[in-house]
Amino acid sequence: MSVLTFKGGVHPYSGKEYTKNKAIDEYFPENGLFVIPLSQHIGSPATPIVKVGDRVLVNQKIGEASGFISANVHSSVSGIVKAIDNRKVANGNKVPCIIIENDGLYEKTNSMDNENYLEFSKEEKLELIKEAGIVGMGGAGFPTHVKLSPPKPENIDYIIVNGAECEPYLTSDYRRMLENPEIIVEGLKIVLSLFDNAKGIIAVEDNKLDAIVRLRKCVSKENNIEVKTLFTKYPQGGERSLIYATTKRCLDSSKLPADIGCIVHNIDTIYAIYNAVVKNLPLTTRVVTITGDAVRYPGNYIVPVGADIKQFIDDTGEFKDKAEKIISGGPMMGMALHDLNIPVTKGTSAILMFKKDEVSACKPSNCINCGRCVNACPSRIIPSRLAKAADKNNEDEFLKLNGLECIECGSCSYICPAKRQLTQSIKTMKKNILSNKRK
Ligand code: SF4
Ligand code: SF4
Repeated sequence: MSVLTFKGGVHPYSGKEYTKNKAIDEYFPENGLFVIPLSQHIGSPATPIVKVGDRVLVNQKIGEASGFISANVHSSVSGIVKAIDNRKVANGNKVPCIIIENDGLYEKTNSMDNENYLEFSKEEKLELIKEAGIVGMGGAGFPTHVKLSPPKPENIDYIIVNGAECEPYLTSDYRRMLENPEIIVEGLKIVLSLFDNAKGIIAVEDNKLDAIVRLRKCVSKENNIEVKTLFTKYPQGGERSLIYATTKRCLDSSKLPADIGCIVHNIDTIYAIYNAVVKNLPLTTRVVTITGDAVRYPGNYIVPVGADIKQFIDDTGEFKDKAEKIISGGPMMGMALHDLNIPVTKGTSAILMFKKDEVSACKPSNCINCGRCVNACPSRIIPSRLAKAADKNNEDEFLKLNGLECIECGSCSYICPAKRQLTQSIKTMKKNILSNKRK
């Protein structure tokens, strides 16, 4: 079995043992407020199409996409709309949200399976995906119908399903692949039917061999889908690392994957595409891993979008100990949470709770020029020099050193023996340069 990989990267402690054997359970709270953001995606926020006092049902559209790059938003709960207001989300920003009082009934809109979906045209399938409000569920939140509508669809050679799940502790994609491999394959076949010349690749790290075996069994009769094994290394699931490992094509910040003939989808996104086209269902839930050494009952749960994270923790994982650090997403690229009264969104892959905040406890010292950050960097840039340029706010030097190629993976900070916060400096400088460019 050949095992594919990329240059650079690191090997952090996996932490997956807490939840990898926990089957996906369901979490549907019986009461409380749901806060459903109208902006869970890159692009303009959806426009509310319900008003305060309306009763809404599960799967009812409550926000309409407001531009080409935007996405519909649907209710994940039945109840009364209490407010339409700005509320805080995981990144600390306030965004427009629809606030619904959960009546505990989870009463659904009427919908029927599309039994004849195989006869649908490409346009009909794309319209169903658009209508379902599907966005990339690996965190980026790019509207999926836009990703699936490149200018030259005939130039797409590969649809790559990202089953790497290289971030430590996360097991939601692993459980989906293990428990629903046939749905992942059927979802991929739907996407492949939109592109005349594309082959399908499902790429999975070699620490999930049982998922690889199940997926391979499901594709044994498919002549244009391959399940490829990736070497377990972070950030193997980063878009550029994944495309390079599976196709040997190189992506940089000047191009989109479609420019080099590739489209990449997250596992849960493929699952949502299946639901939209086959079941006529919008995206209103996702799988969330709750784990870490401060969690009493680690697990993987289907959680409705809009559910309160604090209530979710109290009702499922529970605090075993006081947590110094709580993260939404993985420990390498996730967001530290300082306020837990925020909603689960389409991009919430995990809630991690740790007794100690090891990163804040580290005192950075002087660079010893060991070069480890350079060897670890998957973008083949020089993190130590970039961080120095960033700390001096030297934009010319930063650009000369190709700072915009940083994918913010955190590998350099992780590996640095001097505990320098390289990623943070580079990320801040990048953000400033890009926002000045936009002005
Ligand atoms: S410089 Fe950027 S891409 Fe390179 S290791 Fe650091 S965070 Fe990752
Ligand atoms: S890993 Fe840290 S100490 Fe080593 S060269 Fe990079 S910044 Fe300097």
